[in-house]
Amino acid sequence: MAGGAAEGAVGVIGGSGLYEFPGLADVRWRRVRTPFGEPSDAFCTGRYLDRRVIFLPRHGRGHRVMPSELNFRANIWGLKTLGAEWVISISAVGSMKDAIRPLDLVVPDQFFDATKRRASTFFGDGIVAHVGMAEPVCPDLATALEKAARQAGATVHRGGTYVCIEGPQFSTKAESRIYRGWGVDVIGMTNMPEAKLAREAELCYATLALATDYDVWHETHEPVSVEAVVRNLLKNVATAKDVLRAAIPAIGPGRTCECPSLLRNAVITHPKAFPRRTRQRLGLLLDKYFPGERRRRAPAQRSRRG
Ligand SMILES: [Zn+2]
Repeated sequence: MAGGAAEGAVGVIGGSGLYEFPGLADVRWRRVRTPFGEPSDAFCTGRYLDRRVIFLPRHGRGHRVMPSELNFRANIWGLKTLGAEWVISISAVGSMKDAIRPLDLVVPDQFFDATKRRASTFFGDGIVAHVGMAEPVCPDLATALEKAARQAGATVHRGGTYVCIEGPQFSTKAESRIYRGWGVDVIGMTNMPEAKLAREAELCYATLALATDYDVWHETHEPVSVEAVVRNLLKNVATAKDVLRAAIPAIGPGRTCECPSLLRNAVITHPKAFPRRTRQRLGLLLDKYFPGERRRRAPAQRSRRG
């Protein structure tokens, strides 16, 4: 289990209420520059029981960044740059089903993207890729989270659909009823496009969703409010920390899932047609598949495209 410098790190994105990871050794806050702008905050790197951990408070320390303002690309790019291979997304959610009670945990296996204005791919500008999203969650990481949640004594539901809305307002009752009609299990504002970008970056991604309320659809529970969310968040965050402490030592060190090669057949643009700047910008993702294109010179590229 002891890891060298090349050992992959476990990334943790802390959601509402979780802005630090206590118990890390050798802590260093590191800022990362990305081709996509600024991440939510510096990344807290350290070690937990001999595993490398990289923690990012999704909304920044002090909770300054609202869901629509999150730079999801910079956050995922930063984690990848620092050597993350896994990303545990800790997320507060509303429950859309009676059986998922506030304070329960959910490890969703599907997402429905109902967001409206978020940059949701690293690609574009001349290089097109279509990454598969049929199974958006890493099964191995999901299993580690589920087991750790049981170990921590929490009630955990494995599987389910997370509908991601734009926010920052909570849903209307009509919206909430319609989402329920779609058969979703939980509702939140942050897992999309985070999960899509994690796939493009070939990171194992799974969410530990912490139910805080019944959104606005329940006949006998009050509609969701910040006050109710915060009250249950404080209880949930203690549980989330217990789950992380149990999960992290159980992850890796190697990966046997398909996540590390998700881009292998996803890029549809012919390498000879890659614009030089875009190819350079995406080096972190493309170098391993297109090593010969790294130093392509612009004039040669133009003539070949003819
Ligand atoms: Zn995986």
